[in-house]
Amino acid sequence: MSIKTIKVAQSRLNEVDFNNLPFGKIFSDHMLVADYIDGAWQTPEIIPFGDISLSPSLSALHHAQAIFEGMKAFKNSSDEVIFFRMDDNYNRMNISAERMCMPAIPREIFVEGIKQLVALDKGWIPTGEGQALYLRPVMFSSDTAIGVKPSENYKLIIMTMPTGAYYLEPLKVWVETKYSRSAIGGTGYAKAAGNYGGAMYPSKLAAQHGYHQLLWTDSVNNEVIEESGSMNVMFMIDDVLVTPALHSSMLAGITRDSILRIARDWGTKVEEREITVTELIEKYKAGRVKEAFGVGTAANIAHIATIGHKELIMELPPISERTFANKMYEHLFAYKRGEKDDQFGWLTRI
Ligand SMILES: *Cc1c(COP(=O)(O)O)cnc(C)c1O
Repeated sequence: MSIKTIKVAQSRLNEVDFNNLPFGKIFSDHMLVADYIDGAWQTPEIIPFGDISLSPSLSALHHAQAIFEGMKAFKNSSDEVIFFRMDDNYNRMNISAERMCMPAIPREIFVEGIKQLVALDKGWIPTGEGQALYLRPVMFSSDTAIGVKPSENYKLIIMTMPTGAYYLEPLKVWVETKYSRSAIGGTGYAKAAGNYGGAMYPSKLAAQHGYHQLLWTDSVNNEVIEESGSMNVMFMIDDVLVTPALHSSMLAGITRDSILRIARDWGTKVEEREITVTELIEKYKAGRVKEAFGVGTAANIAHIATIGHKELIMELPPISERTFANKMYEHLFAYKRGEKDDQFGWLTRI
């Protein structure tokens, strides 16, 4: 598929300070746009990144049929572009689409579209420590009518941005016991825009007390641990890597899956199971919680330094002693950049 491409007259690349990349604020020259009109996907186009005009009656603004993905591309020393598990992001985008009653995206548009877009903006892929090109596909309903029903028209836009580290310091997380991110049977397993809007108020309350993130718990008893912010969460308890088992109120992270597979390959004991706040506190008090960290594409691995729950402030061991997470961070990052043997077949090179 050859995508019609309108290139920028003047690249903005030389305006970018690659030593200072705030997350999600600097966008590459081009974006891919594909429209779904009257039941059919139209041929996508690659055009200069920029504003688009939308009607105030745009259905996505009113009823949030809107989903997104987050993935990364890297460049190795031979100037090859490397995508990490892009088929998994593609599949998940369509899982989200199904849940939000949106049309599935053809593989050709998503996968081939991304390859052509990133090949064109290859110069925007940063290669410094912890850096990558972050890819953000977003799809939203584009009917211009206010009626609560599935839209007949949709727009897919894929934009890219050079990024550095997402979190600059180890996290303080607060165990949320009042509000929920999602619920069993809800949309938590989809990357649906509304999930993130709904999480902002409780996150702001925690931030007012000095916490970066929430540790989300189940929506019934606020007792079973689910995720941390918009990352999956893992604990090293004694020498066992423990992470909440997936269900419909949790997002099945690709980073989570990658870490579990690498850990099993290393011979680390792994448990995907229910973990409660009560268990965490008990094991913390017994000195058995060695590490805690959030995992996701944007942040890679984010160490959790402190977990606050009601009156109790759990201070976890120093970051320098986090043998597993530190080793995994190095390994995963090198793997994504093509510096390790691609033993799981996760890389796409162009
Ligand atoms: C995207 C996301 C994750 C992490 O998924 P990755 O595929 O690892 O990036 C975890 N939790 C939530 C709620 C997310 O939105």
